Amino acid sequence: MSSIILKDITIDGICKDVLIRAGLIEKIEPSGSSVLWDIAGDVEIMDCSGKVAIPGFVNMHVHAAMSLMRGLGEDMVFNDWITKIWDVEKNIDSEYVYWATKVACIEMIRTGTTTFNDHYWHFDASVRAAREMGLRIATGYEIMDKGSVAEAERQKLQCQEKTAKYFASPSEMHLYQLAFHAIYSVSEEMMIWAAEFARKHKINLHIHLSETRKEVEDCKAAHGGLSPVEYLDRLGILSDNIIAAHTLWLSPNDVRLLGERGVNCVHNVNSNTKLASGYRFLYKELKDAGANVCLGTDGCASSNNLDMLEVMKTSALFQKAWRDDPSALPLPELMDMATLNGAKALGIQGGRLVEGAVADINIVDTDNTFFLSNSPFLANLVYSAHSDCIDSVICAGRFVMRNRQIPEEKEILTQAKRVLAKIA
Ligand SMILES: [Zn+2]
Repeated sequence: MSSIILKDITIDGICKDVLIRAGLIEKIEPSGSSVLWDIAGDVEIMDCSGKVAIPGFVNMHVHAAMSLMRGLGEDMVFNDWITKIWDVEKNIDSEYVYWATKVACIEMIRTGTTTFNDHYWHFDASVRAAREMGLRIATGYEIMDKGSVAEAERQKLQCQEKTAKYFASPSEMHLYQLAFHAIYSVSEEMMIWAAEFARKHKINLHIHLSETRKEVEDCKAAHGGLSPVEYLDRLGILSDNIIAAHTLWLSPNDVRLLGERGVNCVHNVNSNTKLASGYRFLYKELKDAGANVCLGTDGCASSNNLDMLEVMKTSALFQKAWRDDPSALPLPELMDMATLNGAKALGIQGGRLVEGAVADINIVDTDNTFFLSNSPFLANLVYSAHSDCIDSVICAGRFVMRNRQIPEEKEILTQAKRVLAKIA
């Protein structure tokens, strides 16, 4: 693999030279140092004067293959919306998932995501798409038996088979995990089975949790007054290998449990507000209780795009507004939620631009109106700019976008238009 030198790139306000080799950030030294580096083999040198490096974003909850389902359920309440989506999903196959995930990858690359935590059917196809696009994906077998014993048995066998296949040829670019949909679409027996399976194989378990008020009310009615969080805790499922999307409707006891168990909670503000599921995400309480709070876009069927910079801005705006407190979500913490905390949840040495970390880097062009001020870079990036300022993206030491160009983009769009007919 060839090496990359980023010359004169600004990191945390200081001009540096960066050496990227074997997928890692090998050196970060003062600007001008690279002339002294003796690098064997191919080296690509990029002049980055006037540009700023930030870590690649980690999108912690997405259904990438929903990229072709934008606008399918506009202005619908959650239960009507999900019924409609499940109806459309009856027609998908692995070819659809492959091309739709490639479309999602184009969009994620353009908006600076280098790792995404996916939750979808036909995950083999998503993995193939992500690997070809050069992105890191966390995904794996998806469980949703809807209470059918026959379906549960079929899924158990298939899950064991697929997991064994993954462990026979693991990849650093595919972080294998298990997923189950939610407490209202998966039987109790199957949720327990999935949690034990994930624990046994030391992998993460990616779920939806406490997304709507109705989910909480239905759970309390069915399980003797227990909330979804309390219910899962009673089943012994909550622990630090759980990645729980939404965690929006929480009691103080739920917050305490999520914190004590070290659960990774993913805030998906654009999806939650679009479906009117809610907006009072308990960021501060969850963080103070000890939960690892991350950010995600959710799928395009609800959030319509996969732009993490947009999610960062909206998350901060909602926190400030509903708490009546402009300091409710400080910029450095917001940046950690979009990078470091996700990397931590997935077990990646990343989310920070330091020597030894994975080389997942966004190169931001600041030569535009948005950065013309003396205010801190992060303030301009999050509140003023939009993702067009991301000029180039490196994932695991390879360029996945250079000067806004992504290889094969046209062909991918052509193929995606063709598979759209499958869900018509
Ligand atoms: Zn979701």
